[in-house]
Amino acid sequence: MSTFLVPLQVVVQTPAHSGVAATLTYTHTEPLPAGTLVRVPLGTREVLGVVWDPRSEDAPQAEPSRLRAITAVLQGLAPLDDGWRRLVGFAAGYYQRNLGEIALMALPPSLRGLSAEQLARRLRRKPDARVAGIRACAQADEGNLVSIALSAEQESVTAEIDAQTGPFLLFGSTGSGKTEVYLQAVAAALAADGENQVLVLVPEINLTPQLEARFRARFAPLYGQAAIVSLHSGMTHPQRLGSWLAAHTGSARIVLGTRMAIFASLPRLALIVVDEEHDASYKQQEGARYSARDLAVWRARDAGAKLILGSATPSLESWHASEPAIARYRRLCMPSRIGAACLPRLRLVDMGQQPRKAVFAPALLAAITERVERGEQCLVLLNRRGYAPVLHCHACGWKSDCPQCSATRVFHKTDRSLRCHHCGLASGVPRACPDCGNPDILPVGRGTEQLQEQLAQLLRNVITPERRAARVARIDADTTRARGALQAQLAQVHAGDIDVLVGTQMVAKGHDFRRITLVAAVQPDSALFSSDFRAPERLFALLMQAGGRAGRDAGYMAAHGSAPELWVQTWHPEHPLFAALREHDYPAFAARQLAEREAAAMPPWSHQALLRADARTQEAAQAFLQAAVEAARAAQLPGLAQVFLYPPVPLAVQRVANVERAQMLLESGNRRALQHFLTAWQPLLHAERAHHKGLVRWLVDVDPQAI
Ligand code: ADP
Ligand code: ZN
Ligand code: ZN
Repeated sequence: MSTFLVPLQVVVQTPAHSGVAATLTYTHTEPLPAGTLVRVPLGTREVLGVVWDPRSEDAPQAEPSRLRAITAVLQGLAPLDDGWRRLVGFAAGYYQRNLGEIALMALPPSLRGLSAEQLARRLRRKPDARVAGIRACAQADEGNLVSIALSAEQESVTAEIDAQTGPFLLFGSTGSGKTEVYLQAVAAALAADGENQVLVLVPEINLTPQLEARFRARFAPLYGQAAIVSLHSGMTHPQRLGSWLAAHTGSARIVLGTRMAIFASLPRLALIVVDEEHDASYKQQEGARYSARDLAVWRARDAGAKLILGSATPSLESWHASEPAIARYRRLCMPSRIGAACLPRLRLVDMGQQPRKAVFAPALLAAITERVERGEQCLVLLNRRGYAPVLHCHACGWKSDCPQCSATRVFHKTDRSLRCHHCGLASGVPRACPDCGNPDILPVGRGTEQLQEQLAQLLRNVITPERRAARVARIDADTTRARGALQAQLAQVHAGDIDVLVGTQMVAKGHDFRRITLVAAVQPDSALFSSDFRAPERLFALLMQAGGRAGRDAGYMAAHGSAPELWVQTWHPEHPLFAALREHDYPAFAARQLAEREAAAMPPWSHQALLRADARTQEAAQAFLQAAVEAARAAQLPGLAQVFLYPPVPLAVQRVANVERAQMLLESGNRRALQHFLTAWQPLLHAERAHHKGLVRWLVDVDPQAI
């Protein structure tokens, strides 16, 4: 007698351009609930798959006897719940990706290779030992956190979060104590129900240890160390699996993570916090270009969970949504810093009035010197790493162009290399001009390495109160490549071993420095005139964030009789952005920007997507985009009438690693129309790619952050 076979829809990962459906039909000897993890044959391989709801796709009516069978069921693991599957389904649809890609991306990588038996063994194991280190860290922090008296603003905001449903936009100055508000909201969510879970998202991996320490100090005594896990790409695969399982099984009550954590399986999700919600790193910039912030909004609503978006400089989209007239978000304000600390005073330096070729205005140098002599710390920001962005031969005009990209290779003095920051190509520095033999090739422009060198030179005679020479250190992607390097360098800053810290935006965000009293941005102008309409918003946020690192500790400032300052060197001191910055007036800045955007019908008054094409030549890339438009017109795709298609253009960096890149902007006042259009366009794009014999690669970026 033959066994009765049940056909089941299983989502697997299929190559993006293969055209193979993500949902395939397999058979099993018994029905399995949707969300069950299984292993199935795919071609000659065996892969991880998720049983999907058969109603969500039109199930092909294949003859069960001709279908392949599920190889194994990952027993012992509860099926992924409806909420998780809805999230994955929504993300795949909205960001125009294949369901299997999103589903498998949302699962920890080690789950893919795990057999059913290995998983069973893993599930019996105790949580890993990594928490021990963080625990020690947390204990060091515990003294000042445990019995805290909320500020009046924290008190009222917390009460409102308690009483209302939200979603909330917590608009709080740097140092106003937003983290404490998150802790209060988390405490309330966890106390409300013995199984509730919360998700806290932060933009940068390097902010997670600090945050994790604060959460452990607060919640480990109540719920145990195992109740708090983090989830980010800096973890090893086994660690990630451990955290993921803890979240999925419910043993983790608090999940702290970067954008990828938005896809964690959290069956009892009651609260999502998105810290620094404006931060661009919430948007994935490759593969599935999802926004973890926007998915958090969707997921919280879908799960009936509370949502708190927090920032001192909210994204203009979120700010707009919290305008009383729109009221999609409830705006909560905390304008004051904790403990009567004041916000930094803006010192705007007009570079047109400075000595020729001065890197630092004399007044800024004097201010830094004075602070270092008092034992205070300074932070100097420059958003460009390396020594100089280009080497140049004045005899023949040779430049250190990257042979593979339309960009120059950056001179790194530390290891005497020329490196392309786009394709990674690296080589030694030539002794003489490769074209004319001139031995005098010179760096042009300035990066953090050079700034550090020049500052060290300028401050060489400055003595600190401990009677030692001033120390200038640098933190950027180059100094922090090694695991743990950043934490070690930050520890040196916190310990007072560093007097002046030179760094890129990576040190401007989030860190709770106690002794920094002066922050300087030495060369921020390029963002004022960028073609990207979001550039001013990003610059304003960066300067506010950076300034927010100065003077955070009221007690320290009072003891030193010091006042915090934010110095900005600019050739355009009259720019209105600086007037708002001077007043710490984000609302005024936002109002201006939003008025401009409304006049030009730009987001949030319109919705955008990019279609990008990569090919051997720029002509081929643009021809693909043009053909895609014509195909859409010929097919009279739904939504087309409401979508404006801009002409194809090359990307700002047009060629990377010998690939030419072009893009086309799509804009619509109607999000739904844009979505319909994009979805209907997909098969035409696949077909068009086949016409181009696969020599073109394309991708769609919905709600692009950089244009
Ligand atoms: P934000 O995230 O808004 O920039 P933080 O949450 O990091 O600010 O708080 C700034 C500093 O103030 C931190 O060192 C924090 O420990 C401290 N702090 C926060 N709330 C209080 C409070 N109610 N009483 C005393 N210190 C507080
Ligand atoms: Zn030359
Ligand atoms: Zn290159």
